[in-house]
Amino acid sequence: MTKMTVPLLDLRRQYHTFKSDVLPVLERVCESQMFILGPEVTRLEVAVAAYCHSAHGIGVSSGTDALLLALMGLDIGPGDAVITSPYTFFATGGTIARTGARPIYLDIDPVSFNLCPTQLSRHLAESCERRDGGVYDRASGARVRAVMPVHLYGQMADMQPILTICQAYGLSVIEDAAQAIGSEYHGQRAGSLGDIGCFSFFPTKNLGAFGDAGLVTARDADLAERLRVLRVHGGKPKYYHSMIGGNFRIDELQSAILNVKLPLLESWTEGRRRNAATYETLFAQAGLTETIRLPVELTGRRHIYNQYIIRVPERDRLRAFLAQEGIGTEIYYPVSLHQQECFAYLGYAAGDCPESERAAAETLALPIFAELERAELEYVVDAIRRFYA
Ligand SMILES: *Cc1c(COP(=O)(O)O)cnc(C)c1O
Repeated sequence: MTKMTVPLLDLRRQYHTFKSDVLPVLERVCESQMFILGPEVTRLEVAVAAYCHSAHGIGVSSGTDALLLALMGLDIGPGDAVITSPYTFFATGGTIARTGARPIYLDIDPVSFNLCPTQLSRHLAESCERRDGGVYDRASGARVRAVMPVHLYGQMADMQPILTICQAYGLSVIEDAAQAIGSEYHGQRAGSLGDIGCFSFFPTKNLGAFGDAGLVTARDADLAERLRVLRVHGGKPKYYHSMIGGNFRIDELQSAILNVKLPLLESWTEGRRRNAATYETLFAQAGLTETIRLPVELTGRRHIYNQYIIRVPERDRLRAFLAQEGIGTEIYYPVSLHQQECFAYLGYAAGDCPESERAAAETLALPIFAELERAELEYVVDAIRRFYA
């Protein structure tokens, strides 16, 4: 095959398909000089909540701030603990720690890469105790308040058992759906199952803004109102504060861009799913399915392939080889959160979350964006075949 350059992600290809629609909208916002919490924000909140099958949407400044706001909305702070996955982007654990609460990292299911419900029920049954109307983590003494499942790479965590367990222990559920807009679990969309769903519109997510932006979904009207107030420093009415919030606002300009892009999201997601199906065929034809492990779309799920992740032997050597061949790849994520230096105070050791640690050593993201040509996918698969030949 002749040498090609296949980037991990090329946003310019997508931009040119909607450029003529977005530029006039930007001009309209500029002419209005209304930049904060205007009509574009409201329109986006209604449209994204509907898309996510959720009752309420609150636009925020980033996916990270969506998580932080969710935790603040549930009044989680010092003395509390939140259970989550160690195999995720830093913001998942980072925001928990920033509230003063303690992250509890439990191992993942190796197929979905998401928080394992068995680990969750075992930790609550064996390492926690119920007293004074709460659930307390015995080792740290912290009160477990919530579980934060992450729908990593675009496939939802096993929500039914997670929700059942959380209900039994009186725990809130915050979905980190930053990579999972439009992902489904038995027909229900990411962000509609927990108390709060957190989304990111970081440019590399399936629905990306032209900068930082995010959104939270909520089922309960009172909680949604609380989140809205906390988004603007906790002031209601303005300048009267019964709560300490922050500036977690989404920009009107970013909302206007997202309002143009949202109607196109389904076609982009379908493009990613088509590419995943093509990879599967090509990897099988190349006889590689014994050597490398392809992503698995579990029964009843709709994977949106924010990332297409394979598990491979000699991952780092393969990655270097693919770079030489002009193919962009990435490692999401090389270090589990329980092993990050900043979380040393939590006292985890290597081996505490073995599946997460194994995934960190074996996974590799391949180009999957919707606008890729079939010839590019063929080139990627052929390069991998040559590496293992
Ligand atoms: C992207 C991401 C975030 C943070 O979103 P930002 O918009 O970048 O702040 C949080 N969690 C996960 C799993 C993510 O992928």
